[in-house]
Amino acid sequence: MNKELDLTRIVTAALQRERENRHERQGWYASDLGRCLRGVYLERLVGPPAYDERRLRLFAVGNLFHQWLLERVQETGERVLTEERVEAPAYHFSGRADLLLLGEEETRLYEIKTMHSRGFWHRQKSGELVLPQHRLQVNAYLWLLRERFPNLQGYLCYVSKDDLAVLTVPVPYREEDVAEVQRQLTVLNTAWAQQVPPPPAEAVVFDAASGRWAVNWQASYCPFHARCTGDPDWLAKAEREASARNRKGGESRGR
Ligand code: SF4
Repeated sequence: MNKELDLTRIVTAALQRERENRHERQGWYASDLGRCLRGVYLERLVGPPAYDERRLRLFAVGNLFHQWLLERVQETGERVLTEERVEAPAYHFSGRADLLLLGEEETRLYEIKTMHSRGFWHRQKSGELVLPQHRLQVNAYLWLLRERFPNLQGYLCYVSKDDLAVLTVPVPYREEDVAEVQRQLTVLNTAWAQQVPPPPAEAVVFDAASGRWAVNWQASYCPFHARCTGDPDWLAKAEREASARNRKGGESRGR
């Protein structure tokens, strides 16, 4: 009898192995910016959470896509640097800038974010192009690379994974974003030195763009709910709380 090829099992085992072989993190990463700082702290303390298989596959597809795009750019023969290491040792901070396009008069920094086409087209329609956490990440790179690359311009490229549509948005250097990056890193470093986690993120926040209360994205994507809140029903409760505040209407807005 022929053996069956169980691709699902092969993929899952490969992803688990990749996960287990990851290096222990030493500090803070660019992708930590804008997240719940308590969650970032816990991740450094106890290691990456045990994501479910579907989440691991999603990460893997995003990485593959990302790599594929960088290779296509390298093939063009343009002068580029890819995955350039960026660091601020005083803040125990590091990251990798996806792509630097070296020109005569300026250098362009592109940070690539892949996403599902539904979110991509929704973003185009709503006009809410740049997510705050992505803006902070690009500004962190601009802050740390400006000396090396004078006249450095930042961009975010959102790429839809289903149909390869691309949206490129300029991200100007802003002092207030750099100050926010430094503030978050200072909170994390202080917490680490004292071994006391930063305060929890708000469960429900007011979204000025939609004019409605919603579950805080920082919290809804957090893998530490059980450990942090001790309440496995946390998300459902937060959703009920957001609905209740929306039913109440404007009186509680902005509070
Ligand atoms: S459960 Fe909430 S407060 Fe705790 S780490 Fe996650 S997002 Fe932050």
